[in-house]
Amino acid sequence: MKSPSQTSAIDFDSAKLQRLGFGQQQPSPERPISLSKLRQQLSMQLQTSLEPQRILGLFFREIQRLVPLDALSYEHKSSDLRLEFGLRGHHSISYSLSHEGEHLGELVFRRNQRFSEQEQGNLESLLAALLYPMRNTLLYRAATQSALRDPLTDTGNRIAMDQTLQREIELSRRHLQPLSLLMLDIDHFKLINDTHGHSAGDDVLKAVATSIKRQLRNVDMVFRFGGEEFLILLSNTSREAAALVGERLRFAAQTEEYLADGRSIELTVSLGCSTLLPGESAESLLRRADNALYVAKREGRNRLAMAG
Ligand code: GH3
Ligand code: MG
Ligand code: MG
Repeated sequence: MKSPSQTSAIDFDSAKLQRLGFGQQQPSPERPISLSKLRQQLSMQLQTSLEPQRILGLFFREIQRLVPLDALSYEHKSSDLRLEFGLRGHHSISYSLSHEGEHLGELVFRRNQRFSEQEQGNLESLLAALLYPMRNTLLYRAATQSALRDPLTDTGNRIAMDQTLQREIELSRRHLQPLSLLMLDIDHFKLINDTHGHSAGDDVLKAVATSIKRQLRNVDMVFRFGGEEFLILLSNTSREAAALVGERLRFAAQTEEYLADGRSIELTVSLGCSTLLPGESAESLLRRADNALYVAKREGRNRLAMAG
């Protein structure tokens, strides 16, 4: 009888990755190889990952079987991606990667000896194996990033907020640093929509988001929490420092120029602030900021209230 603990599953992915040279135990291959063989092998290997770090790391390692290098750097400005492998070298060759008119980044190969013409030719030929994998990784990156953003205000969405808040709470505990949270809500926003229309309301929302981001060091910590509510996470920020940031945001929102139907309109915001307590959950931290916001509204709006 078969023992119930036996399984006959084959982990296809890890078997394939081992075969393709991803195994941890395999040292960097130094064996020389022909250009055509290396190209063929690279085009298989590079399509096994969507992580730019892994794709380029593998490319850097494998192409050295044909062209020794000291360093490789890669940059794709519009997706804010920059990677470096190896050390520096005196000589460099740069390539701008593109595919059907789409820019796929800049690559710089470096080393201390000059590159021969034949080596340059080889590098150019090997770069072709990088095109589709890099295009895929950039598309994947753009898709995952846009899934975490609010398109109207270009701030993080609820999913991003949940992830970031959880991470920041863990970091705050580990490093024994304070973490504060501001919840900001536009005052009488419904009136703006009712008076000037939804589209003017949207423009005002965008302007408020821009005003918030302009005041902050780390714009990645601003999230659209609800319709006209924003959440700002302040890492390594005490209650007192968070109160100062909150006041600054309130003042900036009030002095910003908003246009609706071509005319300038007045607008204010209210804020609630909470600071993480020992052992406190994300839900409780959010609830306390929300309660403080409610107090700010009740006490007349255009003000900041601190959670007890
Ligand atoms: P309070 O000072 O108490 O916060 O009053 P308020 O009018 O701002 O609050 P209320 O919650 O009554 O109304 C919020 C409004 O925000 C209602 C909703 O139509 C509007 N809103 C939510 N999301 C959007 C959006 O994406 N665009 C526009 N234009 N309006 C939105
Ligand atoms: Mg409101
Ligand atoms: Mg609201």
